[in-house]
Amino acid sequence: NKFTQYKLCEEIIQALSMLHYIEPTPIQEKVIPLALEGKDIIAKSKTGSGKTAAFAIPICESIVWEENLPQALVLEPTRELAYQVKDEIFNVGRMKRVKVPVVFGGFPFDKQALTLKQKSHIVVGTPGRVLDHCETGTLKCSNVKYVIIDEADLMLDMGFLDDVKRILSYLPENITIMLFSATMGEALYALTDEFMNSPVEVKL
Ligand code: AMP
Repeated sequence: NKFTQYKLCEEIIQALSMLHYIEPTPIQEKVIPLALEGKDIIAKSKTGSGKTAAFAIPICESIVWEENLPQALVLEPTRELAYQVKDEIFNVGRMKRVKVPVVFGGFPFDKQALTLKQKSHIVVGTPGRVLDHCETGTLKCSNVKYVIIDEADLMLDMGFLDDVKRILSYLPENITIMLFSATMGEALYALTDEFMNSPVEVKL
């Protein structure tokens, strides 16, 4: 297994074997070592490149199971993408029993609040509803160490960038931020300039 070149625990290596991920894809080769070092990353890459596992692997590696507050936040533009990404994170984190609740708009807030009261390691959600949970305190961000802004160009097109920025302003200082986008433009660079700390830009 070529994933053994990284400092990954046995549970993650085992889960990757179960998924038949034998070799890292090019984007994974670039992102995984940087993310494990805690570098902020701007990754230009498309769906189909293996970008989900590129962030799922380092964040699952970082999860401390015993900790009871969310340790990572993954922002997705749509509910469908949120569920797909949740599945991938769940599969990568399966042997560590990583808990991955999903929150999105149009679903009863109180039910999600109850879910968030349970053990939640990595919260996946759409920006508006994640922000609501941050504001009401049902999503506690004090222990968040990683935030992923996925499909950032879609987020921009859908008008979610302000919500994303407000979420980022709720998070502790010195967290690792990773942004994935098929294209990068001025508005996205304005966000990365404002919130990231010497980001490394990787392209496929
Ligand atoms: P994504 O770009 O994240 O949507 O992933 C595209 C597809 O590639 C998904 O079906 C993944 O299960 C698969 N995949 C991700 N990483 C690997 C890998 N290292 N080896 C084989 N398949 C992978």
